[in-house]
Amino acid sequence: MDCNQPMIAWSSAWALVGGLAVCTGCMRGQSISLSEDVLPHEPSCKAKGQVARMPWAELHQILDFQRG
Ligand SMILES: [Zn+2]
Repeated sequence: MDCNQPMIAWSSAWALVGGLAVCTGCMRGQSISLSEDVLPHEPSCKAKGQVARMPWAELHQILDFQRG
């Protein structure tokens, strides 16, 4: 069973850089301490309407799903 699709999608939308989850569309980053906040994209970001509003929360959900 292949459960990696959400993780593949996440990792194409986000990069982990120096402790930040960074949008690969606009390079805006968010600290894990702000994980409950909506990440503010650049106004011109092409990804902002297509990716999760809270990248850390989505990553948490993916991990929870994998661990059962
Ligand atoms: Zn963005």
